[in-house]
This record gives sequence, C-alpha cells and structure tokens, in this order.
Amino acid sequence: MATETSLEVGQMHVHILDDGMFVTDAGNLFGGSRKASIKGAMHPILVEAGDDLVLIDAGFGPELPEMLEGRYELRREENLLDHMDEAGFAAGDVTRVILSHLDPDHVGWALNPPSFPNATVYVQQAALEEARQMPQKDGRRAAVPAVERGVEEGWCELLEGDGEVLPGIKVEVRPGHSAGHQIVWIGESDDAALYTGDLAPAKIWLDPNLIAGVDTDPEAARKNRIEVLSEAEERGAPVILYHEPQDSLVKVRSEGDSFKADSFGS
Ligand SMILES: [Zn+2]
Repeated sequence: MATETSLEVGQMHVHILDDGMFVTDAGNLFGGSRKASIKGAMHPILVEAGDDLVLIDAGFGPELPEMLEGRYELRREENLLDHMDEAGFAAGDVTRVILSHLDPDHVGWALNPPSFPNATVYVQQAALEEARQMPQKDGRRAAVPAVERGVEEGWCELLEGDGEVLPGIKVEVRPGHSAGHQIVWIGESDDAALYTGDLAPAKIWLDPNLIAGVDTDPEAARKNRIEVLSEAEERGAPVILYHEPQDSLVKVRSEGDSFKADSFGS
C-alpha cells in the first residue's frame, strides 16, 4: 500500500495512513469458532488543521501486544510512523491524538509507549471506566495504567461526552462497540468527513444487523450505526473505515435496512 489516500475538508487536509494488517480467527470477532481467518487493516487518520496536527486512533504500536500473540498476527512492512514520515510529518509534530476507544489496535502508538511527545491524548471517561471493569487479561484493561499515568502527567485529557477538540473537529459519543466509544466529524455541515472508529470499521459492518461478539452493547451499536450512517448519507460526508483493507474511504447510501458503500469520487 504505497499510495496514500488523502482528501480536503474545508481548510483541513486529511491523510488516511496505515499501520499494517492483522489476521485473526473469525471467532475472535464474531464469537464461536468459525475456522476462517479475517484480515483487518488499521488506518489511523492525520488531520492538518491550521497549526495543529491531529491523529485519530493509533494502530497497534511498535509491535503486537504480548497478550494477543497466538490469536492475532500482525503483518506490515512499514508502520504508522514510517507512513507519517512519507507524508512529511514527524511524531513530534502531532499536537493532539483522539482515541475512539481503548482496544489495543487503536491505542498502540499513543500509549505503549507514548510516541507523540508534544500531543494531548483525548480519551472518554466512560471508556476508561469500562476498561477498568474488564477482566485482567482483556486488551482494553491493558490500556488503563498508561491512560492513568497520562492523566497524572498531564498529557492525557479525559472527556465527558461530545465536544469540539478543535474548530471543525468534533467528537461524538456513540457507544455499542465499547462504552464511551467516540466517532469524529471532521469539517462542518455539508463539507465534512466522518471517522466511525469501530462503530462501523469496515464495509461488512455497514449492515446494522451484523451482531459482533466484540460489541459490548450490540443493541446500542445497531442503533448508533443506523443514526450515524444516515447522517453521513444526508450530509454527503465521505466515511473513513479504519479496518477496511481496500477502499477505506467510501460514500454510504442506505438500501433497505442496510447501507452500501460506493468508492469515494465515483
Ligand atoms: Zn478495532
């Protein structure tokens, strides 16, 4: 994946980056054992917004977390920092990092270890609280010590609900996949793009009725998927799909009780 996808939203420049691919048994995502493997990309987003450089989600980090060894395989020739470098940015240029939630495939470079020395990292309080309640070996639970340290040291800020991180960059809490899961609207009204995080991370998830074993509240996920994707369609906002291996930038349209993806620009 050598070519970088980017788009203009208002005065902002949005880069869709890459932190490699993971391969896992489908049972890890849908429950049960399906004896089939599933591939997912990781596409952190970098937004040039005036003097700020905002990273949205942060891949697996330097290597696959130990707790996932054997269940997940990480494939990559270049990682997020390599891709940032190719796009002309260094880790020290990042001023803000928004984490949709605390799963290890979203927080890596931001927390383990923190790779952006000049950035404030934004986490929803509710996501942290849920992570504290997870079983000891859970991936979300593993993020808790780093977030708590970040709050103590002043580089991590806990959010309580919706808000504007910067003019034109709004987080909106849309739980289901996790408590306190936040999506990001980049831009205003009909000149906007949507980052869905794990609410709808790939084309198959555009079907609101897909029930995933990885959603802590499947009913909330379903309702929020419908509301958010409907709004994206109404506003004509392209949708950035974090885990989609190909065509991670799409336009969605409703069809029956589901949504379909068209390539952006077509
Ligand atoms: Zn994910």
